[in-house]
Order: sequence, then structure tokens, then C-alpha cells
Amino acid sequence: MRAFWSAEESRGKSALDLLVYRSNLLGHDPTIVNWKGGNTSAKADAIDHAGRSQRVLWVKGSGSDLRTITPKGFVALRLEEILPLERRQAMPDEEMVDYLMQCMLRPDSPRPSIETLLHAFLPFPHIDHTHPDAVIAFCTADGGEALTRRAFGDRVIWVPYQRPGFALSRAVAEAVRARPRAQAVFLAKHGLVTWGDDAASCYESTLAIVKEAEAGLARDARAAAFGGPRVSALAPDPRNEMLGALLPRLRGAVSARRPAILHVDVAPDVVEFVSSEQFDRVALVGAACPDHLVHTKYLPCVVPADPAVGLERFSTTALEAVGRYAEEYRVYVAAHRRPGDPEGDPHPRVILLPGLGMVTTGSDKEAAERTAGLYHRAIAVMRGASALSAFTSLTPQEAYDVEYWPLELYKLSLAPRPRELSGRVALVTGGAGAIGRAIAERLAAEGVHVGLMDIDEPGAAEAARELESRYGAGRAMALPANVTSEAEVGAAFRRMVLAYGGLDIVVSNAGLALSRTVEETTAADWDRLFAVLARGYFLVAREGFRIMRAQGRGGAVIFITSKNAQLAGKNSSAYNSAKAAEEQLMRSLAEEGGAASIRVNAVAPDAVLRGSKIWSGDWRRERARDHGIEERGLEEFYRNRTTLKVNVFAEDVAEAVVFLASDRAAKTTGCTVTVDGGIPGAYPR
Ligand code: ZN
Repeated sequence: MRAFWSAEESRGKSALDLLVYRSNLLGHDPTIVNWKGGNTSAKADAIDHAGRSQRVLWVKGSGSDLRTITPKGFVALRLEEILPLERRQAMPDEEMVDYLMQCMLRPDSPRPSIETLLHAFLPFPHIDHTHPDAVIAFCTADGGEALTRRAFGDRVIWVPYQRPGFALSRAVAEAVRARPRAQAVFLAKHGLVTWGDDAASCYESTLAIVKEAEAGLARDARAAAFGGPRVSALAPDPRNEMLGALLPRLRGAVSARRPAILHVDVAPDVVEFVSSEQFDRVALVGAACPDHLVHTKYLPCVVPADPAVGLERFSTTALEAVGRYAEEYRVYVAAHRRPGDPEGDPHPRVILLPGLGMVTTGSDKEAAERTAGLYHRAIAVMRGASALSAFTSLTPQEAYDVEYWPLELYKLSLAPRPRELSGRVALVTGGAGAIGRAIAERLAAEGVHVGLMDIDEPGAAEAARELESRYGAGRAMALPANVTSEAEVGAAFRRMVLAYGGLDIVVSNAGLALSRTVEETTAADWDRLFAVLARGYFLVAREGFRIMRAQGRGGAVIFITSKNAQLAGKNSSAYNSAKAAEEQLMRSLAEEGGAASIRVNAVAPDAVLRGSKIWSGDWRRERARDHGIEERGLEEFYRNRTTLKVNVFAEDVAEAVVFLASDRAAKTTGCTVTVDGGIPGAYPR
């Protein structure tokens, strides 16, 4: 839905507030403005720190998104200091950035956009620079200049491609000066520049040009986009089954440099594109917009296969395609690299799977989703340009110069530094309980994407929501499942794989306890404890092993056991025995996983009372009775019986889990780490 300019909402606003309002309206529409792409400006008078009135250019600062930008996202620059630059013949990027930083009215403003001079050199009071799909279709169409002239007459000025910066800004200003009655500039292979005397007319002008371009495309659209279907798309169930098996292998293949999060996109426009006759030819022409390629890379990885050949053959072809992509990317970098350029990750960001959809990769879920969002724009541009004539793109050199442009890399450097476990994926069972939540929280703080498996569905959902609110959308998910059910455990792992692409860490923590003498313990009691503690740990570990093996990048499995696995407490024979079974299972799996770098370890806590569900029920009363003390004296009782005279908290358990999950424990497997304050009878030996 395109937003309309409201005279009422805009009434009485300052120049800067109107600029914010206009930017938010534009940013609202992803077919006009890319994520964090485009920039807007207004020229107005402003008062500086000394009380003097100055003519300033308000322009978007680096790192903001027009959809959500606020006044703080804009920077005011002294116009009279910038304008003389236009008389220069050339200006290197670094010098331009440095110069503009000296023109800022406030030193605490964000760094001005790399397209600032474009706004400064044009004489209009209000300017929008956007990357609308329909306009870029003209800008990337073969023979686009003639097509643009035919559709827009001399109202639109065509400026040949060059990378944004001083020279492009000057070329645009010169072209507009020569044709002062033009309404807009089309930047070849790039985007749109529009203007107005006031904020509202600038907005209307952008919208009018976009609408006209859309109408032009609709006129020329051919019946079957991209030559019609080549392979048939799979129905959701077989598709998910195939993706469930394929994604961990793909994730392993693209994570050689750093663990990647995968995102699956099966939107109709994507599936139509990847299943079409011409998609590979069109997709391999190049990026649809310089603004995309920092996130999508110059080319996607095209998998030349039909899912009808079956999982194994499809998967082999896909892995070969990813391997080939990385080789070709290294060749591309080697051919264009300048001394000092960073060495980028050679793995694809966009993988196109005929009949299935698109898989995108990123350092986190948000980045992978953002790349998918941009590739939707690319598909729309390719469709439009193909309808007009044929899609064209930047040359490899032009693409490299944008991808490794220091000013673009600077924008990326504004992102927070990666944490120790960034890009990794963990599944935690008992994720709604006190220990499970503490573990999930601590892992999330280190950058892990966490799946919270629990039989308590609302509890898991609430815990996931809380993690997302703290660490970002997509960073956690609830996985309602009973750990004793083979089918439910399998389905939960599948959901996790479809959401993130794979798995690096499994924490088996779901549990319950029972305090009974052996005579009181029923067969049902015994079975229930063994079902959750022994069978549940087995089912969860087995599923984790399957995915980790398919991924081929090792992994960490961590069992939360108990001091009781080593030291038999009184009146809890079923619990003690099941906990001992977990520890022996841990050692067995450590032996099995070693060759695949899957490390299996245990954390053995004792008496984690605070916040615990186990300790809020009968168990608490029963343990107090067994120790012959009052319930309220339990904390003190447990503290006093430890060597260190401390109580054990859920966060203490979480700390040990993070260590065992991390590469700091890369050489530790088959080990039980005690977190019990020191219980001599339970010292592992
Ligand atoms: Zn641009």
C-alpha cells in the first residue's frame, strides 16, 4: 500500500520534521526504497551553536533506514562551504568524506550519506534519491536510454552509470542545468532522482514518476514471465521434507569462514522465478542495483537441478554449485582486487533452488531475511527489464568497485561487533523452565539463535518473545514438544532447521524429579522418569547428531545431569538411576561423535532452587522431610553442605554450558563439569 501525503499531518511541521515525514512515507514502500537505501534532503535555514542563521543541507546520515528515520538520522551541513566544491574537477572519496565532516553543524551528527553531493549540487530545495523497482527496470533494460526517452520524453534525464561520489554528483548537476525543465534523473543501472519546491511536491513527483514507470512496464509486460515454467514447484510437505534434509548440508557448505544463518523464502514470486525457463540466464546477468549487491553479492548461486531427481542427486548438485560459486568468487576478487582490500567471504548470499525456492545466508537471521527482501526487489527489476527488452547489469569491475568500496564497507562496519558464538544455533530442551531459560538467555547474549523446546507451549513462547525483544527479531523460537515423543522431537528439530538452516549446540535439560522410597516408587513413576530423563535425552541427542553430521562442521551436545548421577541421594532411586543413565549416554555419545568433531559433555548441578519448577512442587516438601528440616531452611541447608558454602543458581549452570558450547572447550569431550558448590561425594573420578 502506497502512503498518501496528509496535509493535516504535515501542517505546522519544521523543514526537518517535514523531511522526516516524507522519508518515512517513502520508506514505507519497499518497491520504492530498499532497506537502509536511498536518501532524501531539504535545504533550509538553521541556527548554529553561536546563534547565527545558516543555509544548511539536511541530508540522510549513514546507517539509517528511511522507513524509521527520525530527526537524529539526518545531518545538517553548511551549504555555503559545500557549493564551491562544484568548481573542482575531481575529488577522491576520502577527501570528500573528510571535507563534508568539517561542514557539519553539529559534530555529534551521523556521517553524511555517500550521495550527499548529489543533493548539494542540485539547486532544488527538496530532493529524493530512491531505487524503485519499476524505474530501475528502465535503468537496467538493454537500450534503456532510448526506452526512457520514448516513455518519458525529455522530462527525464538519463545519466550513464558511474559509482556514486563526486564525479556522478557533478555530472547530474551539469545535466540538470542544461535541461532545467526536466522532472527527474534516471541513473543508469542504479536509480532515480526527483525534486520539488516543497516537501509535498517532491514526494508527489517521486510517486508520479514511479507510477508512470509502472504503467510503462504493464504496457510492455509479456504473458509468461521469464519464459514460463521449466520445473514444477513442490507442494509444501515434500518441499519441507526436502529442505529439512538439504539445509544442514548447505549450511555446512557456506559456513567454512564463519557460521551462517540460513533463511528460506518460498513466496510465490520467488518460486515462479526459480522454477522458470530463463531464471538462470537472467539471474547470472548480475545485480539489479548497486544498493543490493553489498548484501546479495554480484551474483546468486544457481543450482541447475530439478527436485524430481530426488534428494540425493539434487543435494549433490546443490553442493557442487555452492563449491563452484566460491571458486568463481575467488577468481572475481583476484581479478579486481586492489592492495589492501579485505578478503571477502566467497560463499553465496543467495541460493536459487528450482522447484523449491530461495535460500539466503547471513551472519544472523535478520541479515539473511534482509538479503531475501532485496532479492525480491531484484526479481521485480529483472522481470520489468525483461519485459521492456533484456535485463543488463554492472560489469564485474563496476560490481567489485561497489562491493569493496571503502565507503560501503564503512556502512557495514557500523553494525555491532560479532559475539563469541555469533551465527550459531542452539536447541535447549526444558526451555521454559528456570535453568533452560537461563541457558537460552546466556547463549543468546553470546550471539546464538535459540530454539526453546518445551512441553509448556505458552511458557516457551513467552521465553522466546522475551529473548527476541532483547536480542532482535528472529533470534529465538518456541518449539512445543514432548521430549519423550519420537515424532514430536523430530518435528521440532525440523522446524528449527527450516528456520535457521541447521544446528551447532544441543542442550538437553528437560527434567523432573521424584522423592520416594523404593517401596513407594511405582512402576509408572520409574517409567516416567526414565522416559523424560533417559529416553528423552537419547531422542534429542540422536536428532542433534543427525543434523550435525549432515552439516559436517562438528557441534556441541551438553547434558544437564545432576550431582545425583554420581552420588546416590536417599529416597530418589528412580531419579538417581536415570541421571546416571544420562551420564553414561553422554560418555557413549562422546565416543561416537568424536570423529565428526561432535563434543558431548555434561554439567552436573545440585540444588538449583531459585526459580525452579521442580523445586516449587512436592519435591521441595519431600526433600525437606527427607533431610528432617523445615522447607524454608532448605537454601541454608544446601549452602552449608557444600565445600564452598554457596547456593547454586541457574545462571551458574548457564555459564558452564556456554563454556562447553564454545571453542574454548574445543578439546573437551566426555566430561562432567560439576556446578554444585563442591560435594566431595560427587567429585568426578
Ligand atoms: Zn543510490
